[in-house]
Amino acid sequence: MSENELFEKESELMIPFFKRLPVTFKRGKGCWLYDFNGKKYLDLIAGIACVSIGHSHPEFISRVYEQMRELMHVSNLFYTEPQIRLAEKLKEISGFDKFFFCNSGTEAVEAALKIARKVTGKKKFLALENSFHGRTMGALSITWKEKFRKPFEPLIQEVEFCKFNDVDDFLGRVNADICAVILEPIQGEAGVYEVSKEFMDAVFEEKERYGYLVIFDEVQTGFCRTGEWFAKDHFGCSPDIMTMAKAMASGFPIGGVAVTNEVANKIEISEHGSTFGGNPLACTASLATIEIMQKENLAENSRDMGGYFRKRLAELGFEARGKGLLIGFDVGDAKALVSKLLEKGVVANNTSDTTIRFAPPLVITKDEIDFAVDALEECL
Ligand SMILES: *Cc1c(COP(=O)(O)O)cnc(C)c1O
Repeated sequence: MSENELFEKESELMIPFFKRLPVTFKRGKGCWLYDFNGKKYLDLIAGIACVSIGHSHPEFISRVYEQMRELMHVSNLFYTEPQIRLAEKLKEISGFDKFFFCNSGTEAVEAALKIARKVTGKKKFLALENSFHGRTMGALSITWKEKFRKPFEPLIQEVEFCKFNDVDDFLGRVNADICAVILEPIQGEAGVYEVSKEFMDAVFEEKERYGYLVIFDEVQTGFCRTGEWFAKDHFGCSPDIMTMAKAMASGFPIGGVAVTNEVANKIEISEHGSTFGGNPLACTASLATIEIMQKENLAENSRDMGGYFRKRLAELGFEARGKGLLIGFDVGDAKALVSKLLEKGVVANNTSDTTIRFAPPLVITKDEIDFAVDALEECL
């Protein structure tokens, strides 16, 4: 199929949910993508913070391939080894006790909400302004953007939004009816904004008094993206529930929920489930991803290269937010800049009309960052 045919057939065949950039990638290697014509692009978005070990990682390919030959899916009617091995590894890197696997970020959030209601016996969620938690009905209810939410109401009614990093607003809203406070420790889709230490302290200080759970949505910030295994590690705090997905298996679909034993002890058989969730192939893809991250010290590289990237951006006059290789900064016209960068062979993403987000593979090097910054400079 030619690229033009592809563009035409897409509008003929696909439900028009997506506005795509005018490029079609054929293959990828490391931090680089190659289009239909063989043109090379530096990937600064990694499939929206998913392909952290880089495209076509040889060890990842061979382990997934081996598992596919052996066994791909049997359902959760049975015990499977890759699922247990993955849970064991997640326990080691996250400090949580027990896990449930699903197929996406939004599903992980759905499971977290259901668990919180079951465990507390309460209904009301407190989320933050500018939050993004997913597109299914439950996750959408706690997602801030009206444009995403409004057409689909009524959603979960028992939701309040607290002003971002506003401790007084939080203290004014929190009470004994709150089932859970859910937040992204660093808001990704909002344009990379960190929750402040003061706000985080307040969330944990009021927890005992009002008997709510704290849920961290680490779908975007997990798996070394911010320079630690999880963004919670920067804050040194222990939420009751944590969601994960995006980089969990390098773009292979899988999501997960992590909980403490205290939470898990109040869950009963059949209260949640999934047909595909945690199947041998997805779990092998995730375990391979995590072990590659360990072997290649990607948390450290995320910290170091994140620091270098911010320094280089500062030289161009940009004030970059975020931690590790989750980077957000403001420009005049972000859409135009993304298009110009694409022409220069750099794939970037804008989270709004004025905000650029970079979330490159965590294997990125200084030379590659220099390539990106040179291209950026030429676009200004
Ligand atoms: C991407 C994202 C989601 C939704 O994940 P999907 O896999 O797209 O359903 C939820 N929460 C956060 C913080 C995200 O960044």
